[in-house]
Amino acid sequence: MNLPIVIIGAGQAGLQAAEAIRAEGWQGDVILLGDETHAPYHRPPLSKTYLSGESSAEQLTMRGPDALARKQITLRTGIRVERIDREEKTLHFSHGSSLPYHRLVLATGARARQLAGADLQGVFALRTLDDATRIAQGLEAAGSIAVIGGGFIGLEFAAIARKKGKSVTVIEAADRLMARAVSAQISEIYARLHAERGVSVRLGSGVAGFVSANGAVSGVTLSDGSIISADLVVVGVGVIPNQELADAAGLVCESGVVVDSSGRTSDPFIVACGDCTAMRLADGRLRRLESVQNAIEQAKACAATIMGKERPFSAAPWFWSDQYDVKLQMVGTSADHDLSVIRGDVATYKCSIFYFRGTTLIGLDSLNRPQDHMAGRRLLDQQVFPTPEQAADEGVALAGLLPKQATS
Ligand SMILES: Cc1cc2nc3c(=O)[nH]c(=O)nc-3n(C[C@H](O)[C@H](O)[C@H](O)COP(=O)(O)OP(=O)(O)OC[C@H]3O[C@@H](n4cnc5c(N)ncnc54)[C@H](O)[C@@H]3O)c2cc1C
Repeated sequence: MNLPIVIIGAGQAGLQAAEAIRAEGWQGDVILLGDETHAPYHRPPLSKTYLSGESSAEQLTMRGPDALARKQITLRTGIRVERIDREEKTLHFSHGSSLPYHRLVLATGARARQLAGADLQGVFALRTLDDATRIAQGLEAAGSIAVIGGGFIGLEFAAIARKKGKSVTVIEAADRLMARAVSAQISEIYARLHAERGVSVRLGSGVAGFVSANGAVSGVTLSDGSIISADLVVVGVGVIPNQELADAAGLVCESGVVVDSSGRTSDPFIVACGDCTAMRLADGRLRRLESVQNAIEQAKACAATIMGKERPFSAAPWFWSDQYDVKLQMVGTSADHDLSVIRGDVATYKCSIFYFRGTTLIGLDSLNRPQDHMAGRRLLDQQVFPTPEQAADEGVALAGLLPKQATS
């Protein structure tokens, strides 16, 4: 019997893995299983154009069942895998049935971290299309809004709520915005941007609990005892990788399913990709990325591994965030830089900040400068480092520093 390649999780990584397995030439069955009721959809627009009303749910769909069927990929939605039997190479579902596999791809993603009391009416997470639809339904009628967590998702939502004329307070426990992911300079720029647009940003503020009336939220109590009035609260305090299935099956997990750069887990018949993973780097550290690029690149690496090829994910990580009319694009890292230089104009939110460790360019954050970002990706991938002077000098074309491409 020819057994299928089965993918658990029909999100960005799962879909990419299914299509890449086909593209790599696998002739057998490919089955994509997802516990949400929707066909695979783009998550990033949920906190951007979907909540602002600029795109519909249909426009978020990446591939419907028909498009997948044309590639001979079977999509089964609304189905949850409860257990992996690695001995028998079989999956078990909640309703009692089972499915054997030839190879398994884990692409179970992550879920929003919750706070105690978040089950009150008017308190929302923002992870799924259903979450975003519920928020959209509450948003029009909401008077004042509190956003718990000044990370990307919370701030993108805050920007949309402000654009809709709502009174918005962002509550952040750290002493700066997006502290986990961006440099202090970018945090400062975004604190200014949100303040200019009328958002009240409360840094260094822990949340003690929610205030409610008749089962609905009416405010958020901060750890200093003060109360922020709100009839709609979005909690954006990070995610938890969905690693329980893997954990229970005895795979090595540590803040995510541990994989190498080719997506291999501790079981030679199982690969994993996307938000559910933590990738072991060459220096032994684990890296957790929650991004579209990571989901896509790891999924491609997994497909290659299954087909006996070696195509590890090695590109510099990149990410983006849209807040108001400012697009932030990041590549590489700013962590532990010892020098930064600015190209362009910070005051008008049209600039790039280059981060150096010694003479090595390690990362680049661009605000409304997509050409810098694209050049930065190529510079980092090809390990071509401008000097700080060149980086800051608008007269120096960054792409011009790259070696000329060989033409045939
Ligand atoms: C609001 C929002 C905005 C974002 N914005 C950006 C952005 O601007 N740029 C960027 O790069 N990234 C962004 N991201 C992150 C990006 O969307 C994720 O990194 C990416 O979707 C991860 O894909 P994934 O397939 O690993 O996980 P997911 O998209 O979470 O998909 C995993 C799927 O597996 C399902 N599943 C889990 N367990 C099971 C099971 N046992 N059985 C069956 N199915 C299961 C889950 O329900 C889910 O549908 C954003 C995310 C959110 C939520």
